[in-house]
Amino acid sequence: MKSLIRCMWVSVLTLLSTTPAFADLKVATSLTDLASVAQFVGGKHVTAQSLCRGYEDPHFVPAKPSLMKAIQHANVFVSVGLELDGGWLPLVLPGSRNPKIQPGTSGFVDASEGIDVLEKPVGTVSRAEGDIHPLGNPHYYADPKNLEIVADKLAEVFSRLDPANAADYAANAKAFDERMETSLAKWEKQMAPYKGASIVTYHKNFVYFANRFGLKLFGNVEPKPGIPPTPRHLAELADAMKKAGVKVVAYQPYYSAAASRQLASKAGGVAVEIATEAGGLPGTDDVFSKFDVLVSSVAKALSGKSGGAQ
Ligand SMILES: [Zn+2]
Repeated sequence: MKSLIRCMWVSVLTLLSTTPAFADLKVATSLTDLASVAQFVGGKHVTAQSLCRGYEDPHFVPAKPSLMKAIQHANVFVSVGLELDGGWLPLVLPGSRNPKIQPGTSGFVDASEGIDVLEKPVGTVSRAEGDIHPLGNPHYYADPKNLEIVADKLAEVFSRLDPANAADYAANAKAFDERMETSLAKWEKQMAPYKGASIVTYHKNFVYFANRFGLKLFGNVEPKPGIPPTPRHLAELADAMKKAGVKVVAYQPYYSAAASRQLASKAGGVAVEIATEAGGLPGTDDVFSKFDVLVSSVAKALSGKSGGAQ
């Protein structure tokens, strides 16, 4: 009898482990990093997907009908906020015809709330002037600490929408924060030799990373966020880099590698391709591996051991 019960129990366990986990919440996000954090916090209760891929420019995502369809049945939408997705999300959200995730409803989350926003503009700024950072710098996800703020916020939102699993969401967010703290200590150690070093980035999307790890931002390949470089701007920047001894130009997969390499080579430095969004390059599938690869490649480029313009 005892063995029969044990046998039945084993069958139940086997059944449970082979049945696909039922997701209580379908979460959609505008950025891969937010989907990654949502998946860590949601665990088995959540399926999270991002509309923008890690190798796409998050400012300019085509508002295709397929994106609207993808979020038709979502329970939660997590936006980066600060207008990063302001060029396309206002088309995609209403296009989904999903009343649960429209701005102002309990299923819509602006992940920038609670973030200490850098480069807030003084006076009025209009997108018409070509500035795509009108509310301050929206690339806050380049600082690991900011993702802890997002994780805590998502645990609250998921708990409100799915109270039965609130304890799991709180525990997952705590585990996420702890893992991020341990990882951050490792990344800070890797970056320590380069404190005070200057770097050029293609777009103005590195200020949060630079502040966290003590780098100085020397300039950008783009003369203004969202405005492509002119030959004159590149020539002036190359001269200034040479004079100041700045040798590293970092660019994302969705920016011009050619312009970055040209600038680096004129300045006698190196151009390094980096992923600031999870999934941007191979081996960067979640936010932890993204920072692993990002920190290693920036440190390597700054070490001067990259072997000329790449
Ligand atoms: Zn930007």
